[in-house]
Amino acid sequence: MMGYDSVFFSGADDSAMVKQALAEGRVILTRDTGIMRRRAVSSGRVKAILIESEEPQRQMRQLMRAFDLKTQTRPFTLCLECNTPLESRSREEMAGRLPPYVYRTQAQYMECPGCHRVYWRGTHWAAMVRKLEKLADNLNE
Ligand SMILES: [Zn+2]
Repeated sequence: MMGYDSVFFSGADDSAMVKQALAEGRVILTRDTGIMRRRAVSSGRVKAILIESEEPQRQMRQLMRAFDLKTQTRPFTLCLECNTPLESRSREEMAGRLPPYVYRTQAQYMECPGCHRVYWRGTHWAAMVRKLEKLADNLNE
């Protein structure tokens, strides 16, 4: 949502996750203290952050503080499915590819050149923007 390349690691193999983080230069976000004790992490070769809260909004605030994300956010610039940078599309280019109501009411679209998912600034988008702004405004809660 905030425009940062991210991967959800669902496998049970911690060493595969650490390897991937090392290979791709990723920071591991985890609630698992065992990850923090792994040698690649404790030695600093792989950066990891132990997420303190179980509550998603507190988790986001911790990350925004840790990485100073408040001033660097580029919301909705990457595909939520596959991390590919989104490209602008005109209404004409989207003809026949969207539900009629969306096509009638939206003029600007973003498309993922990777998976071809289409995004537009509808009510869901507006709600997400408000949520991000609220998080950024209350970083110390
Ligand atoms: Zn995509």
